[in-house]
Amino acid sequence: MAAAPTNKKVLVVEDNELNMKLFCDLLDAFGFQTVESRDGLKAVDLARQHKPDLIIMDIQLPEVSGLDLTRWIKDDTSINKIPIMAVTAFAMRQDERLVREAACEAYMSKPIQMMPFIDTVRKLTGPRTAPTSPPPRSAPPTSPRAYR
Ligand code: MN
Repeated sequence: MAAAPTNKKVLVVEDNELNMKLFCDLLDAFGFQTVESRDGLKAVDLARQHKPDLIIMDIQLPEVSGLDLTRWIKDDTSINKIPIMAVTAFAMRQDERLVREAACEAYMSKPIQMMPFIDTVRKLTGPRTAPTSPPPRSAPPTSPRAYR
């Protein structure tokens, strides 16, 4: 099932270990690179640092709401073009409205289903032909001499 690498990077903000593993295993199997943030308060800095192609945002986090994080990201012009896919544990009309108001590009309730999840990830990352992020490895030294 493993797909060719896409060179697309997804930041996953999720405090639940099982969901984090599920999301990252799925993304990995479909060729996406992942950056993990279990601590919501670190998510905005990680987004600035990695410039991911998509952010998957758990709404129920212990320190801060994923809706607040979304607003902070959308207020920052250096990262506010990154699409955000919200995931929430309880699917209620009220939630969907709040998520839309916070300007998330997509919304999914847990437990997630594999193909709708990946289809949405692909839809949100796919049309972007030029990745905004640098290659995943660190830049090589400027001169071959540095290797000696
Ligand atoms: Mn959570």
